[in-house]
Amino acid sequence: MTAAPVEYREGFFSPEDDRTLPFRWMSKRAVLALPAEELGAHEYVSLWIFSDFANFSQRISLVLDGRILDEFPLMFGWASYSVRLGTPGTNGNSPGELALSLNKVYPAKYHPGDGRELGARLGPLAFHDDEVKHKDAKFFLHNAILNNREMRQGKTHLASYPTNVGIDIWGRCNIKPHCVYCTWDAMKILEGDNAECVVDDKTLESYGPFFKSARQLVNCSIGEPLLSPRFQEILDLCQRHGKTAEISTNGQAFTRRTIQALAGKPVRLYVSLDAATKETYAKIRNDNWDEIVPNLKLLNEERKKAGNVLKIYMVFIPMKVNRGDLEAYFRLCRDIEADSLVLRPLLNLGDPKIEVDRGGYHFNYKNEMLSWEEVQEIFRLSDLYAKKYGVFVYNQFDFGLQPKHAAEAS
Ligand code: SF4
Repeated sequence: MTAAPVEYREGFFSPEDDRTLPFRWMSKRAVLALPAEELGAHEYVSLWIFSDFANFSQRISLVLDGRILDEFPLMFGWASYSVRLGTPGTNGNSPGELALSLNKVYPAKYHPGDGRELGARLGPLAFHDDEVKHKDAKFFLHNAILNNREMRQGKTHLASYPTNVGIDIWGRCNIKPHCVYCTWDAMKILEGDNAECVVDDKTLESYGPFFKSARQLVNCSIGEPLLSPRFQEILDLCQRHGKTAEISTNGQAFTRRTIQALAGKPVRLYVSLDAATKETYAKIRNDNWDEIVPNLKLLNEERKKAGNVLKIYMVFIPMKVNRGDLEAYFRLCRDIEADSLVLRPLLNLGDPKIEVDRGGYHFNYKNEMLSWEEVQEIFRLSDLYAKKYGVFVYNQFDFGLQPKHAAEAS
């Protein structure tokens, strides 16, 4: 996802970064100058665009030097689109003027205090000559529109494919005995004979339309995905096809190999530590704390060299055992330049009868749950520390809800 060198002309605002991609807001109309050498050499351009409209009612049209190239509806959030520029070499030595126009802008009431006319966000552009990639991008958009329509109609038999696909890369874990709150045994019984099933790049390609239709692939394995011997190939495949991978890791499988595989890839990496000190970490997982922070710093350096596409989200599940580490966890996030600290709730399993002695601590799952008042205190402190340490907080206690503005902006 290396950004092509284009010139942003009228209708574009200054560069920003929304923790997913670098971008510029465009007004209702905006103009880009495309370099002559790129136009001369390539047939297609792919563009990352973010729309705030949840129902495909925002449309964009693209006109190159007075020639209409394409017109299509935009998907909510970030998506990659491919546009055919025409036969390479027909522009001579002059840059091309690409005019982008939207049918409507993001309502001003959703960005109070910001008087700009905000249309959509334009992320990185990349020129290419891959006809299959272009056709796949068209298929992806066509399916997303159909899927959205079918879901809104409440259809139970779908002609479309889902736009998010859950995958399970690796069923084994390097933390043994398992983390104190892990439901390992119960999950492995449920997985049954599939517990050792291999999911790699070849498996994903074999999903056919299910893979082509996915905007993101979310790894939900009870296992450590970085241990997969084909981890690099899986991420390469996602990158080639403009898919984002969402991966959770326990932070103990960072090696030269996995760090190189991750740097520069469109991955949202959730690193679950839940602790900021060796002592607390030993109570939740094990004694392997010392290598984790240096490896996270190395990962941060490598991803910066590779264009900052990889995003690092540091997960903290507040419990009785670790709440004293909250401020130190913010400091850790600042030190490794994490994109966000993620607050997640400990799953309410009722009375799971999970009791473990670890690191000199007796962990009783049921008693580790915080009361609503205690959770509110964690939120209050998080607001405070977020400002103090300049760390963005992503609160997933309301996980799965669509932002109110997206539901309304239509
Ligand atoms: S890292 Fe995840 S899968 Fe492995 S033991 Fe811990 S919670 Fe379970």
